[in-house]
Amino acid sequence: MEEHMGYSEGKSEAERRRDLVLFSKLLHRLGFMPGTSGNLSIRLDRQRLLVTPTSVSKFLLTAEDMVIVDLEGRQLEGSRKVTSELSMHLAVYQHRDDVGAVVHSHPPVATAFACAGRGLEEMLCQEAVMTLGVVPLAAYATTGTSEVAASLVPFLPFHDAILMANHGAVSYGSTLLEAFQKMETVEHLAQIALVAHQLGAPRILKQEEIDQLRDAKARYLHNSQ
Ligand SMILES: [Zn+2]
Repeated sequence: MEEHMGYSEGKSEAERRRDLVLFSKLLHRLGFMPGTSGNLSIRLDRQRLLVTPTSVSKFLLTAEDMVIVDLEGRQLEGSRKVTSELSMHLAVYQHRDDVGAVVHSHPPVATAFACAGRGLEEMLCQEAVMTLGVVPLAAYATTGTSEVAASLVPFLPFHDAILMANHGAVSYGSTLLEAFQKMETVEHLAQIALVAHQLGAPRILKQEEIDQLRDAKARYLHNSQ
């Protein structure tokens, strides 16, 4: 069970603080978190999360800036104020026991899809099938309100990354590395979809091809265990 919970890699709190700093900088470098936007969190244990604070550049964050909250969102430790988008993170942890880390960012092309009212639904390239599958679009919700959690809940059991209408994207995984890689993949798939449509008449994978790729993925996952 502990293995399944995603936060059982034996890392200390200090290491997790450093991991949050590292991935915050990487996401900022990628242009997914301009200004002070975006936020990350990681489970410390069954009751507590380590979360990035509000109003700080993800490039300038330090390990001491992180805030500790419980799963109801009450701040337990930290001199800074927790991100205003905490309710999004809480919704993911509350509905996905297997999740150990959450990344929220505004990657430009994926966010443009979300502003155009489009999810990443089409299976255009093999990588889409082998990684995230469909990345759905959650309904519009005002940032920082309980509407955000409500908009995500229908998709949380079935998807590991979700676009948020006129806002951005959220991804999650058993580790922060996994959540980060899923966010990278969301933007990559959005860039491919954009250019494929600009080139005109992209060929969408056939159901038979998708089934074969899913079989290949299942074999790969089985063999790598
Ligand atoms: Zn946001």
